[in-house]
Amino acid sequence: MPHDGHDHTDDHSELSPIALRVKALESLLIEKGYVDPAALDVLIDTYENKVGPRNGAKVVARAWTDPAYAAWLKTDATAAIKSFGFAGRQGEHMVALFNTPETHNMVVCTLCSCYPWPVLGLPPVWYKSPPYRSRAVIDPRGVLAEFGVTLPEKTKISVWDSTAEIRYLVIPMRPANTESLSEEELAGLVNRDS
Ligand code: FE
Repeated sequence: MPHDGHDHTDDHSELSPIALRVKALESLLIEKGYVDPAALDVLIDTYENKVGPRNGAKVVARAWTDPAYAAWLKTDATAAIKSFGFAGRQGEHMVALFNTPETHNMVVCTLCSCYPWPVLGLPPVWYKSPPYRSRAVIDPRGVLAEFGVTLPEKTKISVWDSTAEIRYLVIPMRPANTESLSEEELAGLVNRDS
């Protein structure tokens, strides 16, 4: 890849088929003048370093510590999330789902891979896989157990199907015994799979 400052001519044979395909496409697009390599660098940096689950973690920690913010998230998640500066593509219409002892929320895109990029980054491979997309609907409790989440039988599971229009962010329940933690420390407890 000429744009990342390295010469990969030595390890061509080690590239996976998909990496080779991306490389071929990228070379063609640059050759024909359709894309600027510097613009590609900015995009890659954005999604590797600036946009990701750490953004969503900040939203969750604020919701845990500020009841007024939580109420705002419930009524207008898009605006409440945008107040952090987290907005843009794939986050235009956000809905926050609050886990409670009665209801656990689970998100899937049965059609493809719709995902809230500004708060969670790019979707992980499992989220895009056909088995997750079908089994999340058929057996949500079983799929959650495979992720290490075993819920009491009485806890209802709501499965939400992402669409091109609406993207969801689940607000987990605040863990017990975290009263002494600051908002920043709380954010450190939250990851993508929370
Ligand atoms: Fe989708």
